[in-house]
Amino acid sequence: MEGIGRLECARYPFLANAGEYIADKGFTIEAFGTDPDLVPFIELAMRRIEAAASGLVYSSGLDAGDASEQSVDREVFSFVVATVLLRAAGARSLVRRFALSESRRAERFLERSLARESRERDMPARLLEGLFSVRVRRADYGYGVPVASYVRRSVNFHEREWKLVNRDVHAGLVRLTAHQVVRLVRQELADHIAERIRQSPTPPTLPNFEPHVARIRGLSESLEPKYAEVTGEHPPCVKHAMAVLERGENLPHSGRFMLATFLLGRGWDVGRIAPLFKGAPDYNEKTTLYQLNNISGAGGGTRYSCPLCDKLESQGLCHRTAECEGIISPMQFGRRREA
Ligand code: SF4
Repeated sequence: MEGIGRLECARYPFLANAGEYIADKGFTIEAFGTDPDLVPFIELAMRRIEAAASGLVYSSGLDAGDASEQSVDREVFSFVVATVLLRAAGARSLVRRFALSESRRAERFLERSLARESRERDMPARLLEGLFSVRVRRADYGYGVPVASYVRRSVNFHEREWKLVNRDVHAGLVRLTAHQVVRLVRQELADHIAERIRQSPTPPTLPNFEPHVARIRGLSESLEPKYAEVTGEHPPCVKHAMAVLERGENLPHSGRFMLATFLLGRGWDVGRIAPLFKGAPDYNEKTTLYQLNNISGAGGGTRYSCPLCDKLESQGLCHRTAECEGIISPMQFGRRREA
């Protein structure tokens, strides 16, 4: 993107300009991999990666408004080094997590800039148009996004509020808040970051990077879901949800709820279900266990049941095959014929 400033480089370091920023400062990747004085930037890069591995979003002085030159340098350098380390480690599942975590971080800045009453609001709009061809128009009510752009993205959301029929449309534009605009492009932002890492050349082996690359490989392996025991007669919707997680892609909350309630209904305990969610790009062990315990009714709460097929269908989670004939709940799958 043309004409982005140094502050934007810090907020959105996945833009091509971040590499130029480093070069303009007189640094190279080789320098980060060999110069002992630059090791603190590698440690910051690891903090970014470790935050992502834990399902968290990295925070720094920039979030608190520190726009000094040192702060901007730390942001850009640590992001670029993090991507180099991930590429060197070949850590596929961690790349997806990192991309999602960094896209959420960028969302914070995008949303704040969109919400401000200043010319700063133009930058997010330019970024969205430049990267994803989404034309965001400012209006009295907030923002307007052309219907076609909106529908192409919202089709992946399962919550009712995102259905076009539930939105306010005026003169061909869907009315959205700043928060909704950035939510609309979350997945594309994450895909963009992940793709940039995958497309980057494999970096050379450099001494400062070596121990960190090994640590990233270990982290990545610990995050790989174990699927050996997942076989048998699960319905297509459940198999599909598991495959999404196995590929390290995002499964909507409604899909996670379906998977958890189905397996609980089939007698799995929370400890056996939780590792399946390790494949989710935003996986966080504590949150996952908390949510599973909540759904399972642990401690005397409500135990939730697996939703019925028509509800799953309306949520876009149904992947019906001929074997689903005549059932109304995934819990009946494979059992009806035994009767
Ligand atoms: S019909 Fe029911 S069991 Fe079959 S895929 Fe759809 S939701 Fe799942």
